[in-house]
Amino acid sequence: MGLLSRFFKNDDEEEQGSAPPEVLPLRNDPCWCNSGLKYKKCHLEQDRIFLEKRRRKVVEARNACTSYFGG
Ligand SMILES: [Zn+2]
Repeated sequence: MGLLSRFFKNDDEEEQGSAPPEVLPLRNDPCWCNSGLKYKKCHLEQDRIFLEKRRRKVVEARNACTSYFGG
């Protein structure tokens, strides 16, 4: 039984793992993903890209809104 439950392990965790937590660790603190690496050696760059993408999406949405209303 214990063996089977391994095979049916939920993989959703991994997808959610790409999103950084609300409060990010400091560069020299352990990464939030529990890899044991320092944040700067692990997710720092990925988080920056993730947040940059999200920020750009907000800006795009705002621009689209502005042009729609003749801005
Ligand atoms: Zn990490």
